[in-house]
Amino acid sequence: MKYVDELRRPELIRKAAGEIRRLADPQRHYRLMEVCGGHTHAIYRFGLKDVLPPNIELIHGPGCPVCVLPMGRVDDALSIAEQPDVIFAAFGDMMRIPGTHGSPLEHKARGMDVRIVYSPADAIKLARLHPDKHVMFFAIGFETTAPSTALTLVRAKAEKLHNFSVFCNHVTIIPAIRAILDSPDMRLDGFIGPGHVSTVIGCRPYEWIAKNERKPIVVSGFEPLDMLQSIVMLLMQLQRNEARVENQYARVVPWEGNRAALQAMAEVFELRPYFEWRGLGFISQSALRIKPAYAEWDAEQRFHIPGIRVTDPKAAQCGEVLKGVLKPAECKLFGRECTPENPVGALMVSSEGSCAAYYNYEHRKHSQLTTLSLPA
Ligand code: SF4
Repeated sequence: MKYVDELRRPELIRKAAGEIRRLADPQRHYRLMEVCGGHTHAIYRFGLKDVLPPNIELIHGPGCPVCVLPMGRVDDALSIAEQPDVIFAAFGDMMRIPGTHGSPLEHKARGMDVRIVYSPADAIKLARLHPDKHVMFFAIGFETTAPSTALTLVRAKAEKLHNFSVFCNHVTIIPAIRAILDSPDMRLDGFIGPGHVSTVIGCRPYEWIAKNERKPIVVSGFEPLDMLQSIVMLLMQLQRNEARVENQYARVVPWEGNRAALQAMAEVFELRPYFEWRGLGFISQSALRIKPAYAEWDAEQRFHIPGIRVTDPKAAQCGEVLKGVLKPAECKLFGRECTPENPVGALMVSSEGSCAAYYNYEHRKHSQLTTLSLPA
């Protein structure tokens, strides 16, 4: 398949890996952050760390929207869904996210009306099918998914669909990168820029990272060759002591972004003054809320929200892993109390979560090797 097979060809991967080894200064240790959870997943899925020299360290960033959502927001949404005749609709990767009293799926087992949808448009269909119920869609994601939520709200308003609302948890990527850069315990040499988000926002919003912070950033695709090529591009900049924004994923990401998607977002959303992120705390202007013109479809306006603030279980080190300070396996609970089957933190649930990605590819690989090498 075009854009898949040709970006996984072993001889090209070997060539790119050789180029990385040639460019990497053996006297230097490089710390490159992949911002996007999709990249973290790809790194483990394709075993990319195995082809990199040991002095290139990939730091996992905060780009998994399910992972950065504090537990209190899950509790808030579930408190709405506890009310009579409310259907809680969300994407599948939200279903096993732990709330204080269990995940949405566990609430479903106790009788709550919880449905998996594949798009916000599916949630609208549910509302049309059940005029006697109220459908609340749990919206989550960066700028990647915010436009589809926006268009759904436009449609709900046009149809005067009064039994539908959105509990909005959309966040924005730039303030999170800023918070990472402001973190005193974080030293980074450059960024592998998020591919999905950039299809909407384009490359321009990253220019301050290059200009003010003097860090190169390369917006990257998700295939193995994409990511290795992005690392080559970063190393070339670092070798020349440059700091620029480059677009490796130009076959998908327009430099100026997607105007229609940005317009839909501007019609429906405005910035919240601040929003809490797991691990990063409160970050100003880092999330979207629904504009007053759409208040009727805003679950936070229609329902009482307890505004629950919950800290993660004490031993869970999700915050440190999210900030890239710890590797997944360095969390005390990893692989013991916290596994994909029994997740303690959201990073072990979402396919984009670094703990789940590490567990499903690296950890299982090592466990299998250990088992295979045991004497009969
Ligand atoms: S192993 Fe579990 S508790 Fe630890 S950081 Fe990962 S998700 Fe959080």
